[in-house]
Amino acid sequence: MPQTTAPPIVVAAPLVDAHIHPDKSSWGGPWLSRDRADTLRDFIDNDVRTQAAYTRSVEDRALALFRTAAGQGTRAMRAHVDVGPACGVANVHGVRAAADRLRGVLDVEIVAFPQQGLLTAPGTFDLLDAALGEGADVVGGIDPEGLEGDVDGHLDAVFGLAAKHGADVDIHLHDGGDAGLDQTRRIAARATAEGMGPRVTVSHAFAVAAATGDALTSIADDVAAAGIWLVTCALGGDPVLPVRFLRERGVNVAVGSDGVRDAWTPFGSGSMLDRAHLLSYRTDAMTDADLELAYDACSTAGAKLLRITTDPSGDRIEYPGECLAQVVIDRPTPIRVLRDGDEIARDGVLVS
Ligand SMILES: [Zn+2]
Repeated sequence: MPQTTAPPIVVAAPLVDAHIHPDKSSWGGPWLSRDRADTLRDFIDNDVRTQAAYTRSVEDRALALFRTAAGQGTRAMRAHVDVGPACGVANVHGVRAAADRLRGVLDVEIVAFPQQGLLTAPGTFDLLDAALGEGADVVGGIDPEGLEGDVDGHLDAVFGLAAKHGADVDIHLHDGGDAGLDQTRRIAARATAEGMGPRVTVSHAFAVAAATGDALTSIADDVAAAGIWLVTCALGGDPVLPVRFLRERGVNVAVGSDGVRDAWTPFGSGSMLDRAHLLSYRTDAMTDADLELAYDACSTAGAKLLRITTDPSGDRIEYPGECLAQVVIDRPTPIRVLRDGDEIARDGVLVS
C-alpha cells in the first residue's frame, strides 16, 4: 500500500490586534462607498456621517468583525471606540455587548476614544469619564497639538482620567515631524512621571516612523527608557515603524488593523495574519527571521501589551505550511485555532 504522509502543519502563537475600530466598521453588511478625504477633519466628518447612516447596530457590526477575526486566530484586541458628541457613550455599550457574546473566545479591551477631539469637542471629557465607568478600560487621546492645539491641556485631561480610573492610556498620534517627535517625548515623560511606563501607548507614531538617522536613534532611546509602547498598523502610504530597529533598541512595538472597511478605508480583513503580511511588505522583509519577527509583532508582542498570558501547548494556531515565514507570505486559512486546549475555530470559522 502506498504510504500517505500528513501535510505539514505550522504551529503558531495566537494573534493579537493591538489597535482596531470595530464600531466604525461596515463588516458583515453591504459594500460601503467612500467620499474622498484629504485632511484629518475631512476624514472625521466622513466618519460621523457614515456611522449615522448605518442601519445595523454597533453590536451587530462589531460582532461580525469579532467572529471573523477570532476565526482567523485573533485571541485578543484593543478596540478604540468613539466617544463624543456624535454618539455619546453608545458605541462603547455596543462594542461591549458584542464582546460579551464572545466571552471565552476573544478578549476585548475597550479604549474610550475621543475621535472628534477631547478639548475641542464640547462635553467629551465628561463622556470619557462616563465611558470609563460603563465598560471602557483605557483612556484614549488624539493629536494633542494637530487636532487640539493644546498639548499640556490634552495630556492633563488624559492622564487625569487615567489616574481617576486606574486606566491605561493609548493616544493616536498622526502629527508628523518635530511636532510629532516632541509630543512623543512629552507623552513618554508623562508616563514616567505618573509611574505608568508600559501602560502608556502611542498609536501610529507617524513622526517616529518617518524619522531617520540620529533623530530616529534619539527618539527610540527616549521611548525605550520610558518603557511605553508604540503601535503601528502598516497602513497604505503612511510611515510604518521600523520594527526590527526599534526592538533592537529596546522599544516595545505592537501591531493592529486600525479601521476595517469603514469610512476611512476600503481595506482591512480583520485578520492579523494579513496584517503581518502587510507589515512585512511595508518593512521590506526578506529573510525568514524578518517574516517571523512580523508575526511575533502581530501576536506575542500584542499579548504582552494587553497583559495576556498564553500557554503554547493550549493556546495556538495550526496553519497548513512548511514554516512560519511561508505562512506569513501565503496567509493560509488556519486549520484549527485552540484556546486553553479547546478548539474554538476550524477552517477559519468559529465552532460555536
Ligand atoms: Zn486608530
